[in-house]
Amino acid sequence: MTSSLHSTSSRLSVLPRPINSRSLESITRGNEFAAKPRPYGAVMQTPTLPEAVNYHLNKNCNFRCKGCYATFDEDPSVRGVMLPQKQMFSIVEAIAAAPLPPGKMARKLTFAGGEPTLCPWLPDLIAHAKACGLVTMVVTNGSRCTLDYLRRVAPVLDWLTVSIDSTDAETNRAIGRHDAKGQPLSAEAYSQILAEAAMLRLRTKINTVVNRINHREDMSGFIADSGIDRWKVLQVMAVEGQNDAHMDLLSVTRAEFDAYVARHHRVAEARIRVVPEPVASIRGSYAMIDPHGRFFDSSAGYHTYSTPILDSGVIPAFAQVSFDRMAFEQRGGSYDFTGRGTLEWSGDVQLFTTHLNA
Ligand code: SF4
Repeated sequence: MTSSLHSTSSRLSVLPRPINSRSLESITRGNEFAAKPRPYGAVMQTPTLPEAVNYHLNKNCNFRCKGCYATFDEDPSVRGVMLPQKQMFSIVEAIAAAPLPPGKMARKLTFAGGEPTLCPWLPDLIAHAKACGLVTMVVTNGSRCTLDYLRRVAPVLDWLTVSIDSTDAETNRAIGRHDAKGQPLSAEAYSQILAEAAMLRLRTKINTVVNRINHREDMSGFIADSGIDRWKVLQVMAVEGQNDAHMDLLSVTRAEFDAYVARHHRVAEARIRVVPEPVASIRGSYAMIDPHGRFFDSSAGYHTYSTPILDSGVIPAFAQVSFDRMAFEQRGGSYDFTGRGTLEWSGDVQLFTTHLNA
């Protein structure tokens, strides 16, 4: 992308903050769901784009997860939106061209959705990101990850993340992690995807959202045997306009979340990096792009969007949303995601223990 993307990089940004008309009280459930204070009208230094960015390509998904925080249902303009391939390529170029934080050598771009494999040119987009020097990751529900598809993307994909909340079919049905016919993926299907990805020398990760339906389960054996590099365990988080209608069914307390993490201590002993993310560490700690090509954040408990990156430039657009660098680092967002194949053992038990003592 052109240098004009960074033409305002030395200025201070004054951010008018739209105050959402609905009360945040409507989505709070005690401390676990308390939104971070938002700097309305704050003067902020021009930010540096972090080394990890998530690009939600589309809102479309073939699954029906009730806890999904990227439905974009509150913004009808997002419905059915998928930018043309050329514009997606331009956004990828802009992300790659943005200066890295001091001391960082690479940036990871994660393609998410919706279900990103529903984007017909996702393989080309991954290849373009790779050609731009980015580390590439896809977060998928796994339903379209055939061996043929994995073989197609493997030469340019560094990481495959599969979202797995449970290995129990009934639990997945209750969560909504199933297709339009009510069919979830089986534990065997998940295992096969991860094994095939590993065979193709992709680094693999599982994302699990802990909620009221699955929080008493124990996936230790499945996770420990999965051969993955990293297991991210997230406390289900209410985001107004995305999933808050289901929070009575899904919400768990911090204590329940911690109990779930503690129950899975054996996973860390299996040399899988366990990354627990309670709600308090999620809000404001992700750099995210929506299907319109706008940055967005949910630090106030609902989505706030920037102007489109392709209109404003990547840094001026990023300056319009909240990003908490310290929270990003504290949740383990800054890690060595470069390279392929097996990760070196790097103190997983310590991270795990640190969380439990926090
Ligand atoms: S699979 Fe992912 S994108 Fe699709 S509904 Fe579930 S959480 Fe949302």
